[in-house]
Amino acid sequence: MEATEQQSLDVERVREDFPILEREVGGEPLVYLDNAATTHTPEPVVEAIADYYRRYNSNVHRGIHTLSQEASVAYEDAHDRLAEFVGAEHGREEMVFTKNTTEAENLVAFAWGLNELGPGDEVVLTQLEHHASLVTWQQVAKKTGAEVKYIPVTEDGYLDMEAAAELITDDTELVNVAHVSNTLGTIAPVSELADITHDHDALFFVDGAQAVPNRPVDVQEIDADFYAFSGHKMLGPTGIGCLYGKRHLLEEMEPHLYGGMMIERVTYEDSTWAELPWKFEAGTPVIAQGIALAEAVDYLEDLGMDAVQAHEDRLTEYAYDRLSEFDDVDIYGPPGDDRGGVVSFNVEGIHAHDVSSILNDHGVAIRAGDHCTQPLHQELGIAASVRASFYVYNTTEEVDALVDAIDAARDIFN
Ligand code: PMP
Repeated sequence: MEATEQQSLDVERVREDFPILEREVGGEPLVYLDNAATTHTPEPVVEAIADYYRRYNSNVHRGIHTLSQEASVAYEDAHDRLAEFVGAEHGREEMVFTKNTTEAENLVAFAWGLNELGPGDEVVLTQLEHHASLVTWQQVAKKTGAEVKYIPVTEDGYLDMEAAAELITDDTELVNVAHVSNTLGTIAPVSELADITHDHDALFFVDGAQAVPNRPVDVQEIDADFYAFSGHKMLGPTGIGCLYGKRHLLEEMEPHLYGGMMIERVTYEDSTWAELPWKFEAGTPVIAQGIALAEAVDYLEDLGMDAVQAHEDRLTEYAYDRLSEFDDVDIYGPPGDDRGGVVSFNVEGIHAHDVSSILNDHGVAIRAGDHCTQPLHQELGIAASVRASFYVYNTTEEVDALVDAIDAARDIFN
């Protein structure tokens, strides 16, 4: 098959911003296709981190000295930047910085779930949820006596929307859905699910860890009550995630972590809370990471999120088609032209870890394992799979390198 190289992203130019891509692995050029796990960091983002530490490293919200003021302004503005990026209505008040998506899930589960859920209440997830949401709601349900239900995944990897309409009832208090599945690539019909959820007066929480990096996301258009994502999957640093929440909900919620920075007034007897979003950011927050993530957002917007998505779609479809050429490769999830930027598969007769190891010998980095979706893998009847995932700096030639390396693995095992 011929690769279509009419990318609207200038990929060669983009690659120049990622020196890590010049590395060799085992004497071969690195082909990095593990972007669903974490993405690389372009020079302007590395520079933003270095600039913070070199020029104005200081704690925020505290000092009136110049460095602290500069750090505070940059950190607070970063919240506005992230809020704007996902279409929040009320800027920083609706954007809480966390450590990652997992912590954003836990924030809602502990600050809201622990107080609001009880026996007779239900939380509805899907069978394809990441452990970040699945384990979190499962455990909070155990603590509160609530019950977790799962929207099934159909044979062809879509969410069973008929079942969803039956599972979401007046007993449902919250529905939590991955916008894009990190294992199957399934794109959830989030607006439709938000409507069903709201018809039953429940809250709609979207795990956008695999969506925000790759496609334009508008939380108001979706009508999400909460929306979580991670900085390190969208060219930002590790150690920062984001929780969007509707202002009135965040206002009503109690903090889940207590300490400095999140208070307004403290006496020996009691305390009151700082305004949003600081009420949810106890202690010295993720200052350098937040500032650098705002820089990553600038970088993505310069590329254009439509162009990012188009590039991602093109590579994903190309990889899906090329892998489909093998009779002995089983690909999981929806067709190549209707999924997010991940392709999970197995080569018959070769364990995913062996495939991964041989690919590594060819310089190709992919993920092998359960991708933090163990129950979904059990549902698929497999223990592990191989996952290739793409981003703005990947090329069709790199997909070809993946396919050639898989061919080499088949030769070794046959
Ligand atoms: N949800 C999804 C869909 C993911 O892909 C991931 C990361 N693999 C997470 C949640 C968790 O992200 P983090 O590890 O950054 O908390």
